[in-house]
Amino acid sequence: MRRHLPHGRFTALTACVAAALLTACSSAPTRLQYQIPQQPEGSSGHTDKPGWAAERFAVAAANPLATDAGYQVLKAGGSAIDAAIAVQMVLTLVEPQSSGIGGGAFLLHAAGNRVEAYDGRETAPAAATPDLFIGADGKPLAFHDAVVGGRSVGVPGTVRMLEQAHREHGALPWAALFQPAIQLAEQGFNVSARLNALLSNEKFLAQDPVARAYFFDPDGKPWPVGHTLRNPELAVVLRAIAKDGSRALLEGDVAQAIVAKVQSHPINPGRLALADLSGYQPKKRDALCFDHQAGARDLRICGFPPPSSGAIAVGQILGILNHTGASALALQDSPQGPAPSADWLYLYNEAARLAFADRAQYVADPDFVRPPAGTWMSLLDPAYLASRALLIGPHSMKVAQPGTPGGVQTGMAPMPDQPEFGTSHISVVDARGNAVAMTTTIEDQFGSRQMISTSSARSGGFLLNNELTDFSFAPRDAQGRPIANRVEPGKRPRSSMAPTLVFDKASGQLLMSGGSPGGALIIHYTAKTLHGIFNWGLTPQQAIDLPNFGNLNGPTLLEEKRFTPATLESLRARGAEVREMNMTSGLQAITRGQVHGKPMWLGGADPRREGVVMGD
Ligand code: GLU
Repeated sequence: MRRHLPHGRFTALTACVAAALLTACSSAPTRLQYQIPQQPEGSSGHTDKPGWAAERFAVAAANPLATDAGYQVLKAGGSAIDAAIAVQMVLTLVEPQSSGIGGGAFLLHAAGNRVEAYDGRETAPAAATPDLFIGADGKPLAFHDAVVGGRSVGVPGTVRMLEQAHREHGALPWAALFQPAIQLAEQGFNVSARLNALLSNEKFLAQDPVARAYFFDPDGKPWPVGHTLRNPELAVVLRAIAKDGSRALLEGDVAQAIVAKVQSHPINPGRLALADLSGYQPKKRDALCFDHQAGARDLRICGFPPPSSGAIAVGQILGILNHTGASALALQDSPQGPAPSADWLYLYNEAARLAFADRAQYVADPDFVRPPAGTWMSLLDPAYLASRALLIGPHSMKVAQPGTPGGVQTGMAPMPDQPEFGTSHISVVDARGNAVAMTTTIEDQFGSRQMISTSSARSGGFLLNNELTDFSFAPRDAQGRPIANRVEPGKRPRSSMAPTLVFDKASGQLLMSGGSPGGALIIHYTAKTLHGIFNWGLTPQQAIDLPNFGNLNGPTLLEEKRFTPATLESLRARGAEVREMNMTSGLQAITRGQVHGKPMWLGGADPRREGVVMGD
C-alpha cells in the first residue's frame, strides 16, 4: 500500500505511527511495477506541511510525483541511489524549471558512516575562455544577456554521475528506474501550481520555439494548473538512456542536437562541442566532514567540498557562532510564530559576513585552484574560526574582509556577488540504512531556456542548464588580480549547493540528510535547519518552517512579514542595513528521531514549495 505518513507537528502523531507499524511490510525485494498515482492539484505560495514519520525508509523531494516515484522504488527493494535516480528523472519532467538531465548535481552517499561525494557538476567547454561573459564594450554582460542562449551552457553531468553511483550502489536494474518518468512523460502529468506560476512570470522561455510549443498554448499562454502535459520527446530520450546509459545523452543524436542548438543560437551562441560531451567524467571527491558541537551534542557534519562553497560556508558560520555565545540564545515566540531573537540574528549575520568574505576570496574548482595552506580544512580549522569570531563586536562590521586561513596570503581578488536561482533537493534513507543527500540544478529558472528535442515534432524535450553563469563574469578585479572562480576550459563553476549528512560523532549513527535550493542563500537555509534541529531541538518540519534570514556580506536579509518590527529595529540599531524580501527556500530533510520511544525517520518539506515526504 502506498502511503504518506503525516503527523500534525507531533500532536496528531499517535494514529499515524500506529498505522505505520501495522502496515510495515516485508523487506523482500519485488520488481518495480510503477503505477502513476492520483495527481491532486498542487498549490503555490505557502502551504502548511504536516511533517512525516516513517519506520524503515523515507524519501523527500520537491514534487509529489517525484517523491512517489522514489517511494515506489524503495518499496520494490531499491537502494537510496536507485530512488534518487527515479526521483531525478521525474523531476526532469514535472519540475523542469529547476533540475534535470540537462543539468548538474552533487550527491553525497552514506553507507553506515562511510560518506562518498559524487560530483556531477557541469564543466566549461574546452573552447571556453576567461572573457566568455565579457561583452563587446569590455564590460561583464548583464545577467540574463549571458544566461539566455548557448553561451551559458555547460556539459551536463547529472546522468553520468548517477550512472557511476548506480554502478557502485544500485540494487534495481538501471533501466527500471526510468519507468516512472517514461510512463508519466507518455501518459501526461498535471501542470502544478508552481510550474504554472513560474511560466506566468517567465520572460525568456517562449523565445525558444521548442519550449514555446511545449509549455504554452497556441495563444502563448502558459498551460493552466491541472492541464495534462505529455512529453513524448523526453520519453524517447529517457528510453534511450535507460537502454544505453549516459552515452545516449552525451553521444549520438541527442549530443548532436545539443551542440547544434548551443552553437547555432541566433543571438548568443556557445562553444560546446561533441568532444566536450562525450569526454565528460563525473568525479568522486573526499566529502568535507568536520566536527561540530551543537549544544551538548557532538556531531560529525559531512557536506560537499569545492567546487561547492556550501559545506565550507555552513561549517564556518556554525563554527564561528559557537564562539559568540549564540548557542545560549533560545527561539522567541512572536505573533508570526517561533523565530530567532534579534540578538541571535545579529550574531548569525555577522558570522555569515565573515564566511561569505572567505567564500568570495578562496573557493573555486579544486582542479584549478589550490586551497589555502594546501587544504580546504584550513577554512574550518577551530583556531582560525575562533580568531574570526573575535572580529564580531557590538556594531556591525557591515562588510567583512577575507581572513588568512593557515596564515597564507593570496594574490587573488574576491569575486563580486552574482545572482543564482533554480535548483531542487532530494533526500533519501533506504531500508538498509543507506542515505543520499543530492542537490541538483539547471541554475536559473528554466536554465538557458534552450529545449532539446531530436525530432521536428516539437513535442517537448528537456532544458539545458546555464551553469556557466556561476563563474565570475569578470576574470580579474580592477587591479588586474585574477579571480579564483573565473572561466577556464574544462573547469567547474563554483556552487552554493549544500547537500548535508549529519552523524552522531561517537556512535556514527546517521542523524540527518538535508539540503535546499536557493542560490547563495542555500547556505543560510541549510545552516538555519541544522541549528534548528540540533541546537533548538526542533523536528525537521519545525526547523524548515522557521522564517528565513541571511547575509551575503552586505545587507541583512529577512523573510518578509516573518519578523517583528522590534527585531528589525534592534538589528538596525547595531548598524546593519536590513532588507525584507521573499526568501523561497525549498528545504527537504529526513532526521533520526523517536516517536513514543520508538526510533523513526522524521521528514520535513518546505511550506514555500510543493515538496512532500513519503515512507514506510
Ligand atoms: N546554480 C546554483 C549553484 O550551483 C544554484 C542555484 C539555485 O539554487 O537556485 O550554487
